[in-house]
Amino acid sequence: MPAAYKIIDHIYDTVVVGAGGSGLRAVMEVAQSGLKTACITKVFPTRSHTVAAQGGIAASLGNMGPDHWTWHMYDTVKGSDWLGDQDAIEYLTREAPAAVYELEHAGMPFSRTEEGKIYQRPFGGMMQNMGEGPPAQRTCAAADRTGHAMLHTLYQQSLKYDADFFIEYFALDLIMENGECRGVIALCMEDGSIHRFRSHAVVLATGGYGRVYQSATSAHTCTGDGNAMVLRAGLPLQDMEFVQFHPTGIYGAGVLITEGARGEGGYLTNSEGERFMERYAPSAKDLASRDVVSRSMAMEIREGRGVGKEKDHIYLHLNHIDPKILHERLPGITETGKVFAGVDLTRQPLPVVPTVHYNMGGIPTNYHGEVVHLKDGNPDAVVPGLFAVGEAACVSVHGANRLGSNSLIDLVVFGRATGKRIVDILKPNTPHHPLPKDSEALALGRLDHFRNANGGTRTSQLRADMQKTMQRHCAVFRTEELMAEGVAHMDQVYAGLQDVHVSDRSLIWNTDLVETLELDNLMGQAMVTIRSAINRKESRGAHMHEDFPERDDAGWMKHTIATFDGWGGKGGKTELDYRPVHDYTLTDAIEYIKPKKRVY
Ligand SMILES: Cc1cc2nc3c(=O)[nH]c(=O)nc-3n(C[C@H](O)[C@H](O)[C@H](O)COP(=O)(O)OP(=O)(O)OC[C@H]3O[C@@H](n4cnc5c(N)ncnc54)[C@H](O)[C@@H]3O)c2cc1C
Repeated sequence: MPAAYKIIDHIYDTVVVGAGGSGLRAVMEVAQSGLKTACITKVFPTRSHTVAAQGGIAASLGNMGPDHWTWHMYDTVKGSDWLGDQDAIEYLTREAPAAVYELEHAGMPFSRTEEGKIYQRPFGGMMQNMGEGPPAQRTCAAADRTGHAMLHTLYQQSLKYDADFFIEYFALDLIMENGECRGVIALCMEDGSIHRFRSHAVVLATGGYGRVYQSATSAHTCTGDGNAMVLRAGLPLQDMEFVQFHPTGIYGAGVLITEGARGEGGYLTNSEGERFMERYAPSAKDLASRDVVSRSMAMEIREGRGVGKEKDHIYLHLNHIDPKILHERLPGITETGKVFAGVDLTRQPLPVVPTVHYNMGGIPTNYHGEVVHLKDGNPDAVVPGLFAVGEAACVSVHGANRLGSNSLIDLVVFGRATGKRIVDILKPNTPHHPLPKDSEALALGRLDHFRNANGGTRTSQLRADMQKTMQRHCAVFRTEELMAEGVAHMDQVYAGLQDVHVSDRSLIWNTDLVETLELDNLMGQAMVTIRSAINRKESRGAHMHEDFPERDDAGWMKHTIATFDGWGGKGGKTELDYRPVHDYTLTDAIEYIKPKKRVY
């Protein structure tokens, strides 16, 4: 072990890695109980990707029409294409209204109705009467900047409690011993010091890994670092083949235009000026769920009815909506349209294309946020000391396809549930285990390896190869042949990491090094994503396999779990197994919702 690294030790009851919506909500819950709590984050808290969420947060408040939590539950189960765990979905949808009122009371500036209630808009797949319709207005919004309003509210609240924030610290790896988590190692990016956090509970709230793909709505920081730490700890990730493409990313830039735009009356057309969603989803039309709309757009483009010179995108129309409404309800995207597409939305259609937006897969947990894995035949065995929340986690409430506005509510409901669980099982002043031998070996060995990496390929080159391969071979359309080529390609790209070159050897704000560590994290996730995808011989939710176009409940109503051995281009073996989907609810308040064909 290189002696040059200075290690600074810390001791906490709980360490939360990540300061997005889910991490901050967990921090609040644990810190207010008096447990000693730290929050580590690689970006300043209010720059976490949650800040970019536009459309809103789902809860059956019924402010603008009839609604009920069981209707929200039904829609979420159907949206998940019956891959979601119904006990967890019941928990999410029942707790949702209280979680939104909690945000309101904490000062979150929601848009309002005439009577002063929280404004709610319709969103894809959200219906009344157990899926029968008409659409439910369920998505609570602060104009089209809901995530911004929410993240700032949560950050302000979390400062009220006595939690220590380690800002611009990059978490490297978990400290594991005998299958239990004992803490985490992080690099302070400002001065290069190494920090060893011993803690009874580690909560991974590190967000999604959209940057595995070339065109993504997510921030450049969305590299799934927590997921990768879990893989390096020898633990599995779940349902990684389910990657959500948002129908309306701006063509070329990838920047998101919220589903709220269609919620407020926007619609899509092809090169013939046809509102083609009427053909694919006669009842929900442009507000069918995301996988259905993305796939319909891709079909239109494939069949030569795309717009533009290359006929490779689709138009989104908002120009028929009263400019006053646009100004009031969608001010952010009006500006985005101008900046990123050069389009005045009040007069012209916007060029859009399906773009990677959300990862349904992630670290498997139960509805208390406890990380679970398959152990000695028990599919729900808890990993002591390790928790996951937010987009990093797979609870699984979103199953094979997430409904719009169901992530923000997932962050706060499960952030709180995880905090509560920790407070329930952890007694204050519990003594710490002695430090495991070589607790820092993995983290520092890997850091030092990349810091001195002296190969011939630039990080940016390898990243572009990975992103292009995944975009081409593991996107909206999937065939056996296309994915098999992709697997072979990804094996090469991954092995290419052995030849990576890092030119900056310093430890002070070494972005070259940090980007390389992030790329290594992305690679493992790309590998398990494409292998989980080629393995699933059916179509369900976001996983549309052209050679197996039907959902196969007898064969495939089960979660994929995938482990990966290796980092830095070495090893690279993915192993797959399964966990059963929970086919039961949490309480007697609602019965198990039986599988049906999913039509909108
Ligand atoms: C453009 C856009 C719009 C969206 N709109 C909506 C919407 O309207 N409604 C909805 O429900 N959902 C929406 N989503 C989805 C939703 O916003 C995200 O799923 C959610 O915000 C993720 O929150 P999180 O807490 O899991 O993580 P994030 O907000 O992504 O935060 C991750 C945190 O982890 C930290 N971190 C990561 N790696 C490390 C490391 N190695 N060391 C230290 N810290 C680390 C980061 O610093 C950050 O604080 C949208 C997503 C995008 C991209």
